[in-house]
Amino acid sequence: MIFQHRLSMNFKIFTALLLLMLLSNASLYSQQITLDRVEPPFWWVGMKNENLQLLVYGKSISLTKPEIITPGLSIVKVTKAESPNYLFVDLVVSSGATPGIYTLLFKKDGQTVQTFDYELKARRAGSVNRKGFDQSDVIYLLFPDRFANGNPGNDSHPEMLDKADRTNPDGRQGGDIQGMINKIDYISDLGFTSIWHNPLLENNQAKYSYHGYAISNFYRIDPRFGTNDDYLRFIQLSHDKGLKVIKDMIFNHCGSGHWWMNDLPWQDWINQFESYTRSNFRAGTVFDPYVSEYDQNLFQRGWFDTNMPDLNQNNPFMINYLTQNSIWWVEYADLDGIRMDTYPYPFKEGMAQWAKRLMDEYPDFTVVAESWLTEPGQVATWQRGDKLGLGYESHVTHVFDFPMYEAFRFAFNEQQGWNSGLVRFYNILSQDYLYQNPSEIVIFSDNHDGDRIFNKVNKDMRSLKLAMTFLLTTRGVPQIYNGTEIMMAGDEKVGHGDVRKPFPGGWPDDNRDAFTRDGRTEQENEIFDHIHTLLKWRKSKSVIHYGRLTHFIPHNNTYIYFRYNETEKVMVILNNSDEEQKIDIRQFAELAGGNSVGVNILDNTTYQLNNLKVPAKTGFILELK
Ligand code: CA
Repeated sequence: MIFQHRLSMNFKIFTALLLLMLLSNASLYSQQITLDRVEPPFWWVGMKNENLQLLVYGKSISLTKPEIITPGLSIVKVTKAESPNYLFVDLVVSSGATPGIYTLLFKKDGQTVQTFDYELKARRAGSVNRKGFDQSDVIYLLFPDRFANGNPGNDSHPEMLDKADRTNPDGRQGGDIQGMINKIDYISDLGFTSIWHNPLLENNQAKYSYHGYAISNFYRIDPRFGTNDDYLRFIQLSHDKGLKVIKDMIFNHCGSGHWWMNDLPWQDWINQFESYTRSNFRAGTVFDPYVSEYDQNLFQRGWFDTNMPDLNQNNPFMINYLTQNSIWWVEYADLDGIRMDTYPYPFKEGMAQWAKRLMDEYPDFTVVAESWLTEPGQVATWQRGDKLGLGYESHVTHVFDFPMYEAFRFAFNEQQGWNSGLVRFYNILSQDYLYQNPSEIVIFSDNHDGDRIFNKVNKDMRSLKLAMTFLLTTRGVPQIYNGTEIMMAGDEKVGHGDVRKPFPGGWPDDNRDAFTRDGRTEQENEIFDHIHTLLKWRKSKSVIHYGRLTHFIPHNNTYIYFRYNETEKVMVILNNSDEEQKIDIRQFAELAGGNSVGVNILDNTTYQLNNLKVPAKTGFILELK
């Protein structure tokens, strides 16, 4: 009895344990193994490149083996990282796949412990042929936190560390996507054709989150700006008004608040040092033939700021992650262009791979690289075509004309010399042979990172008008920073907050609304009207977009150039001197020889070319007849 009882007891315990193991196997694993995130969160059928690499994140997920059983989507490779909480799953999405939900199974010992429903969407009609911006466009640079607050209810968010603080110039002011949507008509009516907005993705940082350049989630619009759907709505409504949208992207760094910073897949996912090491910010080191390894290494691997970990684009999974992220946003949000931040800072090979895959997918798309270098020869190294024969093909269509940007600081405040006054512009343009395509350049007098143009011209309204006249009639794609149209001032020495001041009228409790004529001062309306007139006129002038440029060496601080094609001829005169200038038209006979009059589009006045006098500090744009 006793023996039998023991046996029976042992048998019962054994059976119970076995049963428990069998029953709890799945739930046991699912407790130990989680699936928190799959990125990209969805994809499309019919992309030119059929490869897709998923980043799968979850506790101990690397103990599982992913499977998929539906035809059209197949797993070709699975890679484990150093952290046990990642899997990188390479898939092929065959062109014949049907859009729909495909269930990914994550199995352990033959049992499914996690599943993920992965959606393959149908592509937008015409997506492949999307056209980027070109010289026919004028770009409005819009700083979202400081432009308009369309939803005061989202200024702070329970999940986000940094709360709105309108008393702090480095704090969040509350501008958002709804504010941008509310002002689409304003931007369109002013005559712009494109918007480049500063970043909108989640920046869950304790401080300085307002500028958006420290991303903590590459797939999510910051809830203090709105939702992903709000962003799609903004782009759709912009397109309805004929406005293109250029998204600001940052692949050099992420924010220290990024979710992966607590658990990197590989230690080389970011560039790390024993103690905090800042970049030397010398973008010229990348192509300097005499550069030291020390300097170049510091430039490329050093961190942009303490709260901005430097991403390692030499890690193939990292560059693939970033590349897919940008293609995802183009396809998802229907983008017209990308502005890539701090372009020379990331490793250039990875970035070339990114741009090539992007341009292979969308051959007529445009990317403008923030190439903050002072010499045209340095900026030109980053434009596609390898004009300089450096053995580096960037695949990037556009670069920013930073040498011209620097010239705007001085050109209108100086007497003319060999390299001063308006000769600065003349000299920069005379080096355009360095570029593969000098018209694929974005020109600007200021942006969110430095003194506003109104400060650069010593707050002289006449100079500001001249600056805008030049910007909108020379070669390239002009970009104007929001607020320039109401001559907003901003001094970098005071702080970034000063050059990023909120637009008056963007907040419900503002004491005036400068988005309206009545809310602007007389002087603001004068500048506004000047820019408005120029933009309206420029919009239909293919002679300014694509016409040839011939310029003459400035004399008496007066710069004269012509834009012309087979049917039209425009003569631009910028008199930056303090005296009236009498123009001897005979000097310009090679272009104006067959013409007798010119109509100034700025005041609709007709001038006889043989008796042309331009008042001090004044510009003329003459359509020659
Ligand atoms: Ca808001």
